[in-house]
Amino acid sequence: MNIPLKPQTSQPARALAGRVALVTGSTSGIGLGIARALAAAGADVVLNGLGVASEIGRTREQIAAEFGVKTSYSPADLTRPRSIAEMIAATIAQSGRLDILVNNAGIQHVAPLEQFPVEKWDRILAINLTSAFHTTRLALPAMRQNGFGRIINIASAHGLVGSPFKAAYVAAKHGIVGLTKVTALETAEESITCNAVSPGYVYTPLVEAQIDGQAKAHGISRDQVIRDVLLAQQPNKRFATVEELGALTVFLSTDAAASITGIALPVDGGWTAH
Ligand code: NAD
Repeated sequence: MNIPLKPQTSQPARALAGRVALVTGSTSGIGLGIARALAAAGADVVLNGLGVASEIGRTREQIAAEFGVKTSYSPADLTRPRSIAEMIAATIAQSGRLDILVNNAGIQHVAPLEQFPVEKWDRILAINLTSAFHTTRLALPAMRQNGFGRIINIASAHGLVGSPFKAAYVAAKHGIVGLTKVTALETAEESITCNAVSPGYVYTPLVEAQIDGQAKAHGISRDQVIRDVLLAQQPNKRFATVEELGALTVFLSTDAAASITGIALPVDGGWTAH
């Protein structure tokens, strides 16, 4: 049987023009890189995250001016379900739609299980996992109504494998991979996709915060921490970049990725190939 081929089209430069994207935890690091990449592809972007209001305002203005898109900001604290509901409602009220949801916000705490502070466990689970349950359940009705949706959960290599002393983080990241699969299955017939991206180490403030502590704990230099501790499991021996994660998020948001759903895609230089 001959199946007629459609003409091959290249990805337009502004493949996401007309789309509205919300990126949680986009005042810093990976989330900011993803927000910039989505804006560069033409999407209007809602930023969210903690930080100094004036600096966030400048970031917002800079993205709008650089890429010619609309930007807004929600200060929602993702430990608070009511704030999350207000953020989603405000996004839909302002833009009339929410096409791309990137659940990126995350925090880390490192301690042995028996000494793991209970309040840190609760906070990590709330921000890294439960907030994505809330944003997803609240965004889906608008996506279903528009017949289009892309949900991208920034998990981690720690959503696929464990490491000692990171009980809450590893549990939350494995949890978000599970949430990704269920969301994908429940939306598969509706032009909505849900995927997890699982980075290895990416150089951001979250990682910078671990370097000095590890150097002290092991009595070694920063360079040794980077190569022998942080990147010990990462065979390519370099950090992934926020630009790489931004480009992947843009791709997963395009029509070209319409059949990709329910995966947890490692971006880890070979870490989980071990
Ligand atoms: P980051 O610390 O640079 O940024 C975290 C973002 O989350 C910030 O914008 C912060 O304001 C926001 N945030 C924290 N608590 C919040 C709260 N209560 N409410 C709203 N926003 C809140 O970290 P990053 O390295 O860019 O990490 C981003 C995501 O990528 C996280 O989910 C992290 O687990 C994941 N990740 C990071 C790495 C890495 O090596 N950096 C590797 C794998 C996965």
